[in-house]
Amino acid sequence: MKTSGGPATRIVIVGGVAGGMSCAARARRLDESAEIIVLERGEYVSFANCGLPYHVSGEIDDADDLLVQTPERLSAALNLDVRTGHDVIGLDPAAREVVVRTATGDERIGYDALVLSPGATAARPAIDGLDSPRVRTLRTVGDAIWLRDSVDSGVGRAIVLGAGFIGLEAAEALALQGLHTTVVEFAGQVLPPLDAEHAWPVEEELARLGIDVRTGTAARQIIEGPDADTVLLDDGTRLAADVIVLATGVRPDTGPFEAAGVAAERGAMIVDEHGRTSLDRVWAVGDATISVDPVTRVRRPVALAGPANRAGRLVADDILRPGQARPIPPPLGTSIVRVGALTVAMTGANRAALENAGIDHHTVHLHPNQHAGYFPGASPIHLSLHLRAEDGMVLGAQAVGSDGVDKRIDVIATAIRSRMTVADLIDLDLSYSPPYGAAKDPVNLAGMVGTNVLDGTMRLWYAHDVDEVLASALVLDVRSPREFATGHLPNALNIAHTELRGRLDEVRRAADGRPVRVLCASGVRSAIAHRVLAQAGFDSASLSGGMRTLRATLGATADAVLQTEETAARV
Ligand SMILES: Cc1cc2nc3c(=O)[nH]c(=O)nc-3n(C[C@H](O)[C@H](O)[C@H](O)COP(=O)(O)OP(=O)(O)OC[C@H]3O[C@@H](n4cnc5c(N)ncnc54)[C@H](O)[C@@H]3O)c2cc1C
Repeated sequence: MKTSGGPATRIVIVGGVAGGMSCAARARRLDESAEIIVLERGEYVSFANCGLPYHVSGEIDDADDLLVQTPERLSAALNLDVRTGHDVIGLDPAAREVVVRTATGDERIGYDALVLSPGATAARPAIDGLDSPRVRTLRTVGDAIWLRDSVDSGVGRAIVLGAGFIGLEAAEALALQGLHTTVVEFAGQVLPPLDAEHAWPVEEELARLGIDVRTGTAARQIIEGPDADTVLLDDGTRLAADVIVLATGVRPDTGPFEAAGVAAERGAMIVDEHGRTSLDRVWAVGDATISVDPVTRVRRPVALAGPANRAGRLVADDILRPGQARPIPPPLGTSIVRVGALTVAMTGANRAALENAGIDHHTVHLHPNQHAGYFPGASPIHLSLHLRAEDGMVLGAQAVGSDGVDKRIDVIATAIRSRMTVADLIDLDLSYSPPYGAAKDPVNLAGMVGTNVLDGTMRLWYAHDVDEVLASALVLDVRSPREFATGHLPNALNIAHTELRGRLDEVRRAADGRPVRVLCASGVRSAIAHRVLAQAGFDSASLSGGMRTLRATLGATADAVLQTEETAARV
């Protein structure tokens, strides 16, 4: 390290985009005298990876707009020595040097502090023919330009392999440009981190955009042809494609650093709370690192721009102000994506993560409007929230809707970071006027339902348990007869909630000793009915999220499971 009047600290940074460039900029602001060298393998630094799909869609028309900074501007403004075309191929921790490959040969560059922010590369699954020139990832400016040029050349058919965030952004972009687009996803649903009930509205929206979604199947082979490639799926389907986007996930780009002894797990570098790796004077941030999930305490990689940027900044602090540097908070994985007219967002743990970690929890589902129902343009937010059974701590949330989703998920992300409980959510003082929200904001409502569940005022049953419920309970549907006729569970008893108090004997006879499982359209009326039943001594529970969540959970099978007047008459 630099001592007063001694040589300047040399900070070498590998990777010149999100984490790397944040670190470089912060380091300069902290220390005018430091020598800061950024080594970037590619042609560009500081480019907007997150904006790439929107160049393909045409919304960001000029690819130059994706270049947030250039080496020249970074040199002028921050006195950074940014070297593109510099591929770090080795690390010698004993000599404190990196080995760099450039167009003119290999060289060694010494460091006092080394920051690794090499990001991730596209995973390449075992698919024959993946080397076809019609296959491209979407990770670089060059990829986006290539795809946009393909679109502009008039190609007609695209296949996107993988329905994660980048896959769906690519599919949406290609469909917006008029290509017949198919998405192939090995998992049983799109956006696999979403709880299943939120994935179905997304699939419906993709269908509305004209995108053909194939879930539960994978590409096996790509057969090159003179005019188009053929993608062979493992269900036997053959699809023709002019362009194929490979978006089946990412893997940390850590080869040379692991080889040099940086401790890693599943290919991602392990760091402490200040981003320090297992090697002295070597830090790492971003997609190439693994972090501890603050909710489940499980170690997993988080490939998101916000955590990479913030970690880069804090690592600069740790290098230059070690006594004062704040620890890097482990990321919650808060994320958001636009799919057509819908916004899909999530924060914290999903149901699978909670189950895998053995965390006893409740989930509440709500469908409140994003703003006052009487104000024009009201539309529902399908919101679910996981809370810890022990004390109501907020563990995670997911939401889908056409408006207001971002605000609610960001508020809940803040609540999780602040270790709030559902009771705290009720007390949040959120902005309101009719065009923006409601006097009881969806987040406040989620807190109210959550506390009701926690203190036993409300008892819920869940759509994913419907088979068990049908086998063992009386289903009491408290919607109006007209709503009931549009689709109901088999053998359900229909008594509108307004009539329930006078017809409890009828329920008792129909239940014949079985528990009563109540439902309505969204869970509001069934909550009232549950309170009536519970206080009359019934073993009762209300369907979380009501028929809306049930239909979303049943997905494509809903029409086969639910009976209408017509289907009921046939049986
Ligand atoms: C199409 C797309 C859309 C995305 N959208 C979003 C979004 O909407 N929201 C969000 O939060 N995140 C999004 N992300 C993810 C986000 O971009 C990453 O999480 C973030 O950029 C990670 O930062 P990083 O510094 O770890 O890696 P990167 O920003 O990827 O930077 C790594 C850089 O290191 C260089 N490099 C790698 N190895 C070497 C080496 N050995 N020598 C020299 N240079 C090297 C690479 O060339 C690369 O330029 C998106 C990513 C993509 C590809």
